[in-house]
Amino acid sequence: MYNYGIDIWADENFIIEEGLLKINHAAKPSLISMVKDIREQDYKGPLLFRFPHLTLKQIDKLYTLYDNAIEEYEYKGKFNAVFPLKVNQLPNFLRPLINSGKKYGYGLEAGSKAELFIAMTFNKIGSPITVNGFKDKEMIHLAFIAHKMGHNITIIIEGLNELEMILELEKKTQLPTPNLGLRVRLFNQGSGSWAKSGGIDSKFGLSSTEIIEAFEMLKKNNLVYILTMIHFHIGSSMSTIKPLKNALKESGHIYAELKNLGANNLSAINIGGGLAVEYSQFKRTTQYDLQEFANDVIFTLKNIAKQKGVEEPHIFTESGRFISASSTVLITPVLELFSAEYDENQLKLKELNPPLIEELRDLYDDISSKTALEFMHDSIDHLESLLKLFDLGYIDLKDRSNAEILANLIIKKAISLLEVDDYEELKRIDNKIQEKYLLNFSIFQSLPDYWGIQQEFPVMPITHLDKKPTRSASLWDITCDSDGEMEFNPEKPLYLHDVDLNKEEYYLGFFNVGAYQDILGMRHNLFSHPTEINVVFENKEVKLEKILESQKIIDILEDIDYDTSEIKTVLKNSLDNDTYKILNKYLHENSYLKTAWS
Ligand SMILES: *Cc1c(COP(=O)(O)O)cnc(C)c1O
Repeated sequence: MYNYGIDIWADENFIIEEGLLKINHAAKPSLISMVKDIREQDYKGPLLFRFPHLTLKQIDKLYTLYDNAIEEYEYKGKFNAVFPLKVNQLPNFLRPLINSGKKYGYGLEAGSKAELFIAMTFNKIGSPITVNGFKDKEMIHLAFIAHKMGHNITIIIEGLNELEMILELEKKTQLPTPNLGLRVRLFNQGSGSWAKSGGIDSKFGLSSTEIIEAFEMLKKNNLVYILTMIHFHIGSSMSTIKPLKNALKESGHIYAELKNLGANNLSAINIGGGLAVEYSQFKRTTQYDLQEFANDVIFTLKNIAKQKGVEEPHIFTESGRFISASSTVLITPVLELFSAEYDENQLKLKELNPPLIEELRDLYDDISSKTALEFMHDSIDHLESLLKLFDLGYIDLKDRSNAEILANLIIKKAISLLEVDDYEELKRIDNKIQEKYLLNFSIFQSLPDYWGIQQEFPVMPITHLDKKPTRSASLWDITCDSDGEMEFNPEKPLYLHDVDLNKEEYYLGFFNVGAYQDILGMRHNLFSHPTEINVVFENKEVKLEKILESQKIIDILEDIDYDTSEIKTVLKNSLDNDTYKILNKYLHENSYLKTAWS
């Protein structure tokens, strides 16, 4: 049975049973049962389900991998991890993550002042905080204050000017100085989509000359003791392990050299993030095994420490995508199948029809599994000729409507007659015969990386999985933007079911959307975030909590700085009271489309 590549991307988090997609956890509830539960509470539009148990699973996995490797190689350093806040700062995601990480001392990484405020407030005292990104004096002052609060915080500098600010604050304030890390600009570049985070021409980090200079500055100010960490980040979604190994060697030697120069408290290498997530539904794109990855890190650092006669460094990682992507699933209702308007009942055939229409009729009546393919192609040809005849004024609007209906009916019938086993046939068929599925969501809001960088996300229906999907599908969102479309791609074909939405519901799930999408999403056409739900399991029972409804129209307008009382006054003054009441109700609903069940 067609399984939408679930064995490739789902990491056994989801299973197909009885035609339904289910959570492979506790009592294995189906996604559709949760959707129905939420609908009954009258939340319309797209839904964003968050699964804290999947975040916990990733955190457990990360620590287990490194603990295994440390044990295997009898490594002396300790493993530490922080979650990079830029990947997902939303409280419904973050607070369960912080809870799950407590037992490990899992910390947070901040890349801006706002993120640092989140870290200072919610991070468990004692768990590490690292601070990256470009900084000003205020941001560094914040880090001093966090340190005073008792946080184990390390300021990782991107340039010498940041060190100058630290030295200045150290003199000016009475506050104790937090730990210092140096982000190094490596010669070895990363791989994957975001490789420009590393490399000699990277936007970030200190060159070797600057590293030496930083060390001299620390010495001059008697502050060598604050230097504790070397940091690099070679980019997101590493597809192979080799660039990381090279970067590890390079940074490992920098660590050892600095130690031998007298950096006595230098004790850690922070290897950044970059662990990949499998987004493909067709072929594995991640070419390393996670245990192999952790083993390589430990083994490489152990060797360098031995070679240069220094202590084995503690290890920090900042993987974000790996921790967060799988925990969030977007569910979008299908509003419409484009071909649904072509119904036999709507045919308005005349006494005397143009010959090509008569031929379409015959094709429709006579089609069989043997002739399906041939008749389908004939019908497409006929339709094209008839449309040309219409442009030339030889047939009328009724004829044209009949032609469109008949051609679409033939295509539908042909597809159901074809014995599509391996879908090669469907793939070969003209891309004119795809079905268009209109989805109640905005790609710009919910899958911005699809729009911006063509990032693919696994997609599949959450029901009907015991039936053969027969339509090659293109997906349309409800924005008025032609970019709001996911075209059918014969290289990575998506097949969906032929459903009658008057009789049954049909929802598509998009998976692995927990990293970056939440905060990158934009309000194009003024669609705001979907309704969010946290799915937690208590004594194996599923509970839907922390429901955060999609924003009301009035609040969206206020967010973009309209004076909402002006809007209300203008509308109120130009309408009678009863009409205004209706408008006011609409203003307090979200902007996604409403149908009986969407
Ligand atoms: C973005 C970023 C990360 C997280 O990268 P992922 O690919 O999501 O793991 C880690 N460290 C730094 C410095 C970053 O900028």
